[in-house]
Amino acid sequence: MVQTLQSFLDENIQYLKDNGLYNEIDIIEGANGPEITIDGKKYINLSSNNYLGLATDEDLKKVAKEAIDTHGVGAGAVRPINGTLDLHEELEQTLAKFKGTEAAVAYQSGFNCNMAAISAVMNKNDAILSDELNHASIIDGCRLSKAKIIRVKHSDMEDLRAKAKEAVESGEYNKVMYITDGVFSMDGDVAKLPEIIEIAEEFGLLTYVDDAHGSGVMGKGAGTVKHFGLQDKIDFQMGTLSKAIGVVGGYVAGTQSLIDWLKSQSRPFLFSTSLAPGDTKAITKAVEKLMESTELHDKLWDNGNYLKKGLKELGFDIGDSETPITPVIIGDEKKTQEFSSRLKDEGLYVKSIVFPTVPRGTGRVRNMPTAAHTKEMLDEALKVYEKVGKELEIIK
Ligand SMILES: *Cc1c(COP(=O)(O)O)cnc(C)c1O
Repeated sequence: MVQTLQSFLDENIQYLKDNGLYNEIDIIEGANGPEITIDGKKYINLSSNNYLGLATDEDLKKVAKEAIDTHGVGAGAVRPINGTLDLHEELEQTLAKFKGTEAAVAYQSGFNCNMAAISAVMNKNDAILSDELNHASIIDGCRLSKAKIIRVKHSDMEDLRAKAKEAVESGEYNKVMYITDGVFSMDGDVAKLPEIIEIAEEFGLLTYVDDAHGSGVMGKGAGTVKHFGLQDKIDFQMGTLSKAIGVVGGYVAGTQSLIDWLKSQSRPFLFSTSLAPGDTKAITKAVEKLMESTELHDKLWDNGNYLKKGLKELGFDIGDSETPITPVIIGDEKKTQEFSSRLKDEGLYVKSIVFPTVPRGTGRVRNMPTAAHTKEMLDEALKVYEKVGKELEIIK
Protein backbone atom coordinates (compact mmCIF):
# COMPACT_ATOMS: atom_id res chain seq x y z
CA MET A 1 0.00 0.00 0.00
CA VAL A 2 1.27 3.48 -0.74
CA GLN A 3 1.98 5.69 2.24
CA THR A 4 -0.55 8.41 3.02
CA LEU A 5 0.55 12.00 3.32
CA GLN A 6 -0.52 12.03 6.97
CA SER A 7 1.57 9.01 7.93
CA PHE A 8 4.55 10.41 6.05
CA LEU A 9 4.25 13.70 7.92
CA ASP A 10 3.60 12.15 11.33
CA GLU A 11 6.56 9.79 11.12
CA ASN A 12 9.00 12.34 9.83
CA ILE A 13 8.01 15.19 12.10
CA GLN A 14 8.32 12.83 15.06
CA TYR A 15 11.77 11.80 13.85
CA LEU A 16 12.89 15.42 13.72
CA LYS A 17 11.49 16.11 17.19
CA ASP A 18 13.12 13.00 18.68
CA ASN A 19 16.48 14.05 17.25
CA GLY A 20 16.42 17.68 18.28
CA LEU A 21 16.15 18.77 14.63
CA TYR A 22 12.68 20.32 14.76
CA ASN A 23 12.84 24.08 14.87
CA GLU A 24 10.16 25.88 16.87
CA ILE A 25 9.76 29.29 15.28
CA ASP A 26 9.46 32.36 17.48
CA ILE A 27 7.05 35.09 16.41
CA ILE A 28 8.49 38.62 16.57
CA GLU A 29 5.90 41.16 17.68
CA GLY A 30 6.89 44.31 15.80
CA ALA A 31 10.09 45.21 13.99
CA ASN A 32 13.24 43.10 13.78
CA GLY A 33 15.46 45.80 15.26
CA PRO A 34 18.29 45.75 17.83
CA GLU A 35 15.66 44.83 20.41
CA ILE A 36 12.72 42.53 19.71
CA THR A 37 9.56 41.43 21.52
CA ILE A 38 8.45 37.80 21.71
CA ASP A 39 5.42 36.75 23.78
CA GLY A 40 5.35 40.23 25.29
CA LYS A 41 8.95 39.99 26.54
CA LYS A 42 11.74 42.24 25.29
CA TYR A 43 15.12 40.86 24.19
CA ILE A 44 18.40 42.25 22.96
CA ASN A 45 18.51 40.85 19.45
CA LEU A 46 21.80 39.39 18.21
CA SER A 47 20.28 37.12 15.57
CA SER A 48 19.16 39.25 12.64
CA ASN A 49 21.04 39.90 9.40
CA ASN A 50 19.95 43.52 9.57
CA TYR A 51 23.62 44.53 9.80
CA LEU A 52 23.19 48.24 9.26
CA GLY A 53 19.83 48.65 10.95
CA LEU A 54 18.31 49.68 7.62
CA ALA A 55 15.25 47.42 7.99
CA THR A 56 13.75 50.08 10.25
CA ASP A 57 15.46 53.16 8.80
CA GLU A 58 13.22 56.25 8.68
CA ASP A 59 14.46 57.43 5.25
CA LEU A 60 13.78 54.02 3.72
CA LYS A 61 10.32 53.87 5.27
CA LYS A 62 9.53 57.31 3.90
CA VAL A 63 10.55 56.60 0.29
CA ALA A 64 8.78 53.23 0.38
CA LYS A 65 5.52 54.91 1.39
CA GLU A 66 5.92 57.54 -1.32
CA ALA A 67 6.57 54.85 -3.93
CA ILE A 68 3.45 53.02 -2.85
CA ASP A 69 1.49 56.25 -3.37
CA THR A 70 2.87 56.82 -6.86
CA HIS A 71 3.26 53.21 -8.10
CA GLY A 72 0.97 51.04 -5.96
CA VAL A 73 1.79 48.04 -3.82
CA GLY A 74 2.50 45.54 -6.60
CA ALA A 75 4.47 45.59 -9.86
CA GLY A 76 1.57 43.95 -11.67
CA ALA A 77 3.46 41.60 -13.98
CA VAL A 78 6.67 39.73 -14.60
CA ARG A 79 9.58 41.83 -15.84
CA PRO A 80 9.46 41.00 -19.59
CA ILE A 81 5.69 41.44 -19.94
CA ASN A 82 5.17 44.87 -18.40
CA GLY A 83 6.38 44.53 -14.82
CA THR A 84 9.54 46.56 -15.39
CA LEU A 85 8.88 49.90 -13.72
CA ASP A 86 11.09 52.97 -13.84
CA LEU A 87 11.86 52.11 -10.20
CA HIS A 88 13.45 48.80 -11.26
CA GLU A 89 15.54 50.54 -13.90
CA GLU A 90 16.71 53.10 -11.32
CA LEU A 91 17.56 50.33 -8.85
CA GLU A 92 19.60 48.34 -11.34
CA GLN A 93 21.58 51.37 -12.44
CA THR A 94 22.26 52.22 -8.80
CA LEU A 95 23.38 48.65 -8.07
CA ALA A 96 25.80 48.67 -11.01
CA LYS A 97 27.31 51.92 -9.79
CA PHE A 98 27.55 50.53 -6.25
CA LYS A 99 29.32 47.39 -7.44
CA GLY A 100 31.54 49.07 -10.02
CA THR A 101 30.18 47.04 -12.96
CA GLU A 102 28.60 47.86 -16.33
CA ALA A 103 25.16 46.57 -15.36
CA ALA A 104 23.08 44.72 -12.79
CA VAL A 105 19.83 42.75 -12.61
CA ALA A 106 17.57 42.52 -9.56
CA TYR A 107 15.59 39.46 -8.48
CA GLN A 108 12.86 38.91 -5.90
CA SER A 109 15.20 37.23 -3.41
CA GLY A 110 18.81 36.24 -2.98
CA PHE A 111 17.78 32.62 -2.99
CA ASN A 112 16.02 32.74 -6.33
CA CYS A 113 18.79 34.93 -7.73
CA ASN A 114 21.24 32.05 -7.28
CA MET A 115 18.74 29.60 -8.76
CA ALA A 116 18.27 32.01 -11.68
CA ALA A 117 21.79 33.06 -12.52
CA ILE A 118 23.70 29.79 -12.15
CA SER A 119 21.23 27.76 -14.21
CA ALA A 120 20.99 30.43 -16.92
CA VAL A 121 24.69 30.16 -17.69
CA MET A 122 25.78 26.63 -16.72
CA ASN A 123 24.42 23.42 -18.23
CA LYS A 124 24.98 19.69 -18.41
CA ASN A 125 28.13 20.09 -20.49
CA ASP A 126 29.78 22.22 -17.79
CA ALA A 127 31.34 21.74 -14.35
CA ILE A 128 31.01 23.85 -11.21
CA LEU A 129 33.67 23.83 -8.50
CA SER A 130 31.82 24.75 -5.31
CA ASP A 131 33.19 25.48 -1.83
CA GLU A 132 31.81 22.83 0.53
CA LEU A 133 30.38 25.48 2.88
CA ASN A 134 28.47 27.36 0.20
CA HIS A 135 24.91 28.48 0.96
CA ALA A 136 21.92 26.21 0.24
CA SER A 137 20.73 28.47 -2.58
CA ILE A 138 24.06 28.03 -4.40
CA ILE A 139 23.82 24.28 -4.01
CA ASP A 140 20.27 24.30 -5.38
CA GLY A 141 21.22 26.63 -8.24
CA CYS A 142 24.09 24.31 -9.18
CA ARG A 143 21.82 21.27 -9.07
CA LEU A 144 19.21 22.98 -11.21
CA SER A 145 21.83 23.76 -13.87
CA LYS A 146 22.59 20.01 -14.30
CA ALA A 147 26.30 20.83 -14.48
CA LYS A 148 28.74 18.42 -12.83
CA ILE A 149 29.20 19.64 -9.24
CA ILE A 150 32.69 19.26 -7.78
CA ARG A 151 32.95 20.03 -4.07
CA VAL A 152 36.07 21.88 -3.01
CA LYS A 153 37.38 21.79 0.58
CA HIS A 154 36.51 24.97 2.42
CA SER A 155 38.80 27.83 1.35
CA ASP A 156 41.49 25.26 0.48
CA MET A 157 43.43 26.72 -2.42
CA GLU A 158 45.50 23.58 -3.04
CA ASP A 159 42.33 21.56 -3.37
CA LEU A 160 40.82 24.18 -5.68
CA ARG A 161 43.92 24.22 -7.88
CA ALA A 162 44.06 20.41 -8.09
CA LYS A 163 40.37 20.05 -8.89
CA ALA A 164 40.38 22.94 -11.38
CA LYS A 165 43.36 21.36 -13.16
CA GLU A 166 41.70 17.97 -13.25
CA ALA A 167 38.38 19.32 -14.53
CA VAL A 168 39.95 21.50 -17.22
CA GLU A 169 42.51 18.93 -18.37
CA SER A 170 39.87 16.19 -18.60
CA GLY A 171 38.50 18.00 -21.63
CA GLU A 172 35.03 16.85 -20.58
CA TYR A 173 33.52 20.25 -19.95
CA ASN A 174 32.73 23.29 -22.06
CA LYS A 175 32.85 25.75 -19.17
CA VAL A 176 34.18 25.42 -15.63
CA MET A 177 33.02 27.82 -12.90
CA TYR A 178 34.24 28.40 -9.37
CA ILE A 179 31.57 29.60 -7.00
CA THR A 180 31.99 30.76 -3.42
CA ASP A 181 30.39 32.78 -0.67
CA GLY A 182 32.28 36.09 -0.20
CA VAL A 183 31.78 35.93 3.57
CA PHE A 184 30.90 32.58 5.16
CA SER A 185 27.99 33.11 7.48
CA MET A 186 28.70 30.48 10.13
CA ASP A 187 32.29 31.48 10.96
CA GLY A 188 32.54 34.97 9.50
CA ASP A 189 35.62 34.12 7.43
CA VAL A 190 36.28 35.71 4.04
CA ALA A 191 36.92 33.95 0.70
CA LYS A 192 40.54 34.20 -0.48
CA LEU A 193 39.64 36.09 -3.61
CA PRO A 194 43.14 37.18 -4.73
CA GLU A 195 44.33 33.55 -4.77
CA ILE A 196 41.05 32.41 -6.30
CA ILE A 197 41.53 34.87 -9.15
CA GLU A 198 45.07 33.63 -9.79
CA ILE A 199 43.83 30.06 -10.07
CA ALA A 200 40.84 31.12 -12.16
CA GLU A 201 43.08 32.97 -14.60
CA GLU A 202 45.50 30.07 -14.81
CA PHE A 203 42.75 27.60 -15.73
CA GLY A 204 40.24 29.87 -17.44
CA LEU A 205 37.53 29.45 -14.80
CA LEU A 206 34.39 31.56 -14.63
CA THR A 207 34.07 33.16 -11.19
CA TYR A 208 30.94 33.70 -9.12
CA VAL A 209 30.94 35.35 -5.67
CA ASP A 210 27.81 35.28 -3.52
CA ASP A 211 28.31 38.28 -1.28
CA ALA A 212 25.12 38.01 0.76
CA HIS A 213 27.00 38.62 4.02
CA GLY A 214 29.69 40.84 2.49
CA SER A 215 27.62 43.57 0.86
CA GLY A 216 27.29 46.54 3.20
CA VAL A 217 29.89 44.96 5.47
CA MET A 218 33.15 44.53 3.51
CA GLY A 219 34.91 47.00 1.21
CA LYS A 220 33.55 50.07 3.04
CA GLY A 221 30.10 48.76 2.23
CA ALA A 222 30.52 47.83 -1.43
CA GLY A 223 31.37 44.21 -0.66
CA THR A 224 34.11 41.60 -0.60
CA VAL A 225 35.04 41.94 -4.27
CA LYS A 226 35.58 45.69 -3.82
CA HIS A 227 37.50 44.99 -0.59
CA PHE A 228 40.09 43.19 -2.71
CA GLY A 229 39.75 45.63 -5.67
CA LEU A 230 38.70 42.81 -8.00
CA GLN A 231 35.56 44.30 -9.62
CA ASP A 232 37.00 43.74 -13.09
CA LYS A 233 38.02 40.16 -12.40
CA ILE A 234 34.95 38.50 -10.90
CA ASP A 235 32.38 37.54 -13.54
CA PHE A 236 29.34 37.35 -11.24
CA GLN A 237 29.00 39.61 -8.21
CA MET A 238 25.86 38.28 -6.63
CA GLY A 239 24.30 39.65 -3.46
CA THR A 240 21.15 39.93 -1.45
CA LEU A 241 19.10 43.02 -0.72
CA SER A 242 17.67 41.46 2.44
CA LYS A 243 20.62 41.53 4.83
CA ALA A 244 22.71 44.70 5.18
CA ILE A 245 20.48 46.45 2.63
CA GLY A 246 17.57 45.75 4.95
CA VAL A 247 14.72 45.05 2.52
CA VAL A 248 14.29 41.99 0.26
CA GLY A 249 15.61 40.79 -3.10
CA GLY A 250 18.81 39.71 -4.79
CA TYR A 251 21.00 40.88 -7.67
CA VAL A 252 23.80 40.02 -10.02
CA ALA A 253 26.23 42.72 -11.12
CA GLY A 254 28.54 42.14 -14.08
CA THR A 255 29.13 43.02 -17.71
CA GLN A 256 26.33 44.38 -19.89
CA SER A 257 26.29 41.20 -21.96
CA LEU A 258 26.01 38.98 -18.86
CA ILE A 259 23.08 41.03 -17.59
CA ASP A 260 21.43 41.06 -21.06
CA TRP A 261 21.69 37.26 -21.08
CA LEU A 262 20.23 36.88 -17.57
CA LYS A 263 17.37 39.20 -18.48
CA SER A 264 16.56 37.13 -21.52
CA GLN A 265 17.14 33.63 -20.09
CA SER A 266 16.88 33.39 -16.30
CA ARG A 267 13.60 31.86 -15.31
CA PRO A 268 12.68 33.73 -12.09
CA PHE A 269 13.20 36.97 -14.05
CA LEU A 270 10.97 35.73 -16.85
CA PHE A 271 8.27 33.95 -14.88
CA SER A 272 7.95 35.53 -11.42
CA THR A 273 6.48 38.97 -10.69
CA SER A 274 9.06 41.66 -10.08
CA LEU A 275 9.96 43.38 -6.81
CA ALA A 276 7.18 45.52 -5.32
CA PRO A 277 7.46 49.31 -5.82
CA GLY A 278 7.86 50.22 -2.15
CA ASP A 279 10.59 47.63 -1.67
CA THR A 280 12.35 48.67 -4.87
CA LYS A 281 12.50 52.33 -3.87
CA ALA A 282 13.62 51.49 -0.32
CA ILE A 283 16.44 49.33 -1.68
CA THR A 284 17.62 52.10 -4.01
CA LYS A 285 17.65 54.51 -1.09
CA ALA A 286 19.63 52.05 1.04
CA VAL A 287 22.27 51.61 -1.65
CA GLU A 288 22.50 55.38 -2.13
CA LYS A 289 23.02 55.80 1.59
CA LEU A 290 25.86 53.29 1.52
CA MET A 291 27.50 55.12 -1.37
CA GLU A 292 27.15 58.50 0.34
CA SER A 293 28.55 57.64 3.73
CA THR A 294 30.37 54.88 5.59
CA GLU A 295 28.85 55.92 8.91
CA LEU A 296 26.62 52.85 9.34
CA HIS A 297 29.36 50.53 8.09
CA ASP A 298 31.83 52.05 10.56
CA LYS A 299 29.34 51.74 13.42
CA LEU A 300 28.74 48.09 12.55
CA TRP A 301 32.46 47.30 12.68
CA ASP A 302 32.89 49.30 15.85
CA ASN A 303 30.08 47.35 17.52
CA GLY A 304 31.37 44.05 16.16
CA ASN A 305 34.87 44.68 17.47
CA TYR A 306 33.52 45.81 20.83
CA LEU A 307 31.45 42.65 21.26
CA LYS A 308 34.30 40.40 20.12
CA LYS A 309 36.75 42.00 22.52
CA GLY A 310 34.31 41.64 25.43
CA LEU A 311 33.56 37.99 24.70
CA LYS A 312 37.24 37.17 24.27
CA GLU A 313 38.11 38.84 27.56
CA LEU A 314 35.45 36.76 29.28
CA GLY A 315 37.25 33.66 27.96
CA PHE A 316 34.86 32.46 25.24
CA ASP A 317 36.06 30.72 22.07
CA ILE A 318 34.97 33.08 19.30
CA GLY A 319 36.70 31.33 16.40
CA ASP A 320 38.53 33.24 13.67
CA SER A 321 35.90 35.56 12.25
CA GLU A 322 37.19 38.35 10.01
CA THR A 323 33.83 40.17 9.99
CA PRO A 324 31.29 41.34 12.59
CA ILE A 325 29.73 37.84 12.57
CA THR A 326 30.77 36.51 15.99
CA PRO A 327 30.31 32.85 16.84
CA VAL A 328 30.67 31.67 20.43
CA ILE A 329 31.73 28.08 19.98
CA ILE A 330 30.47 25.70 22.64
CA GLY A 331 31.04 22.33 20.91
CA ASP A 332 28.51 19.84 22.22
CA GLU A 333 25.11 20.19 20.51
CA LYS A 334 22.91 19.74 23.59
CA LYS A 335 25.02 22.13 25.65
CA THR A 336 24.89 24.69 22.84
CA GLN A 337 21.11 24.56 22.82
CA GLU A 338 20.97 24.81 26.60
CA PHE A 339 23.31 27.80 26.49
CA SER A 340 21.18 29.60 23.90
CA SER A 341 18.04 28.86 25.87
CA ARG A 342 19.54 30.22 29.11
CA LEU A 343 20.72 33.38 27.32
CA LYS A 344 17.14 33.82 26.16
CA ASP A 345 15.81 33.42 29.72
CA GLU A 346 18.12 36.28 30.64
CA GLY A 347 16.85 38.54 27.86
CA LEU A 348 19.44 37.89 25.15
CA TYR A 349 18.26 36.48 21.83
CA VAL A 350 21.09 34.55 20.15
CA LYS A 351 20.32 31.50 18.05
CA SER A 352 22.15 28.23 18.42
CA ILE A 353 23.58 26.67 15.28
CA VAL A 354 24.42 22.98 15.38
CA PHE A 355 24.99 19.98 13.14
CA PRO A 356 24.11 19.60 10.26
CA THR A 357 24.41 23.36 9.61
CA VAL A 358 27.93 23.26 11.09
CA PRO A 359 30.20 20.21 11.60
CA ARG A 360 29.39 17.89 14.53
CA GLY A 361 31.04 18.97 17.78
CA THR A 362 31.28 22.64 16.75
CA GLY A 363 27.89 23.82 17.99
CA ARG A 364 27.80 27.55 18.54
CA VAL A 365 25.59 30.50 19.21
CA ARG A 366 26.05 33.10 16.51
CA ASN A 367 26.06 36.79 17.32
CA MET A 368 25.11 39.27 14.63
CA PRO A 369 25.83 42.71 16.05
CA THR A 370 24.45 45.60 13.97
CA ALA A 371 24.99 49.32 13.53
CA ALA A 372 21.73 49.85 15.43
CA HIS A 373 22.93 48.39 18.73
CA THR A 374 23.98 50.82 21.44
CA LYS A 375 27.01 50.25 23.66
CA GLU A 376 24.58 49.85 26.58
CA MET A 377 22.86 46.95 24.79
CA LEU A 378 26.19 45.29 24.07
CA ASP A 379 27.33 45.78 27.69
CA GLU A 380 24.11 44.19 28.88
CA ALA A 381 24.64 41.30 26.44
CA LEU A 382 28.17 40.76 27.78
CA LYS A 383 26.85 40.77 31.34
CA VAL A 384 24.38 38.01 30.42
CA TYR A 385 27.13 36.07 28.65
CA GLU A 386 29.31 36.22 31.75
CA LYS A 387 26.50 35.06 34.05
CA VAL A 388 25.31 32.17 31.88
CA GLY A 389 28.82 31.19 30.79
CA LYS A 390 29.90 30.77 34.42
CA GLU A 391 26.70 29.02 35.37
CA LEU A 392 27.16 26.39 32.62
CA GLU A 393 30.92 26.23 33.30
CA ILE A 394 31.84 27.33 29.80
CA ILE A 395 34.07 30.06 31.21
CA LYS A 396 35.72 30.38 34.63
C1 LIG B 1 20.96 34.67 2.95
C2 LIG B 1 21.74 34.16 1.82
C3 LIG B 1 21.17 33.98 0.56
C4 LIG B 1 19.69 34.18 0.33
O1 LIG B 1 19.34 35.50 0.35
P1 LIG B 1 17.81 35.93 0.56
O2 LIG B 1 17.76 37.29 0.01
O3 LIG B 1 17.53 35.86 2.02
O4 LIG B 1 16.97 34.98 -0.22
C5 LIG B 1 21.97 33.57 -0.48
N1 LIG B 1 23.28 33.33 -0.29
C6 LIG B 1 23.87 33.47 0.91
C7 LIG B 1 25.33 33.20 1.06
C8 LIG B 1 23.11 33.90 2.00
O5 LIG B 1 23.70 34.02 3.19
